[in-house]
Amino acid sequence: MLPGQKHPVQHDVTMPAIELQKVSVRYDQTVALDSVTLRLNRGDRVAVVGPNGAGKSTLFHVIAGVVRPQEGQVRIYGSGPGGHICVGYVPQRKVIDWDFPVTVTDVVMMGRVGKMGFLRWPSRHDRDVVRAALDEVGMSAYANRQIGELSGGQQQRVFLARVLAQEAELLLMDEPLTGLDMPSQEVILSLIDRIQRNGVTVMVASHDLNQASEQFPLILLLNRSVIAFGPPDEVLTTANLLAAYGGHMHVVRADNGDLLLADTCCSGGAEMLLPTLTHVTAPVIQSVPQSAVEEMRPPR
Ligand code: ADP
Repeated sequence: MLPGQKHPVQHDVTMPAIELQKVSVRYDQTVALDSVTLRLNRGDRVAVVGPNGAGKSTLFHVIAGVVRPQEGQVRIYGSGPGGHICVGYVPQRKVIDWDFPVTVTDVVMMGRVGKMGFLRWPSRHDRDVVRAALDEVGMSAYANRQIGELSGGQQQRVFLARVLAQEAELLLMDEPLTGLDMPSQEVILSLIDRIQRNGVTVMVASHDLNQASEQFPLILLLNRSVIAFGPPDEVLTTANLLAAYGGHMHVVRADNGDLLLADTCCSGGAEMLLPTLTHVTAPVIQSVPQSAVEEMRPPR
C-alpha cells in the first residue's frame, strides 16, 4: 500500500448494502433518530421523505459514518460505517461553502482521494477517470471553472461526477433537487438513474412526495422513527402521511380518493390547485404554502 493511502474496509458482497438495527441519535435533548431499523440491498433506489427535522440528514450522516449513534448498530456491506471509500455523500447545497476557491476538476478529483491516498499526486489514470466522469455528466467544458460560478443544476452534476470518479457503490444525496428548475431536475434524476443501473445503491432525500413516488421504487417515510418503508403505493397512504406530517397536512376527502395538502418546505410554495381526481389509489399530494394550509384548517 502506498504512503497516505487509506486502508479501505473490505466488503462482504453477500451482506445487505445498508443495515441499521434500532439506531438512535440524540443531539443534547433533541431526538433525531429513534430506533431506526432498515435494510437495503445492493442496487436499491430509495427516496427518503419526511418533514423538516425528521432526521433525514442525520440518517445520511450515520450511514456515511460521520455521526455515531448512541444506540443501535450500523453495517455497510457487513462492516461498521466509516473507512468505506465506497460511500458517495452529497450534502445539501446550503451547507456547502460555494466561495471556497476550487475548480470543477478539483472537486471531482476529491472523489479519487480514497483510492490514491492524501499524500500522492494524481496519476494519469486518476486524471483520466476524472475527465471521463465530467464527460459522463456533460460538464467537460466547465472543467477549469470555479465551482461557485456554476448554476445549482451544474453543481449537482459536478458532485455526481465526483461520485462517479470515486467509483462509489453507495450514493447518498441530501435534497439534490431543491431549488432546481424542472429541466435541471430531470437531468439530475436521469444521471441518478444511470448510476443506479450500474448497481449503485441510491438514497435521495426529497421534499417532493409526488416526484418521489413517480421516480423511486422504494420510499422511506421518516419522522425520527420509520413510519413506513416500501413501494410508494404502500407507503404514501393517508394514514402514514398524517402520521409523518401531522399538523402540516390537510386532507380533503373526495369520492374517488383523498387530496392531501402539504405545506411546502420552502418559502413561496406552489399555487394551490385542486387537481381533478381520477384514479386515486395513493393520495394526491399538493404542495401549498403554510398560510394556505392554516386557512383551510377547521377552527378548533
Ligand atoms: P432533516 O434532514 O430531516 O431536516 P436533521 O437530521 O437535519 O433532519 O435534523 C433532525 C433533528 O436534529 C432536528 O431537530 C435538528 O434541529 C437536530 N439536529 C441536527 N443536527 C444537529 C446538530 N449538529 N446539533 C444539534 N441538533 C441537530
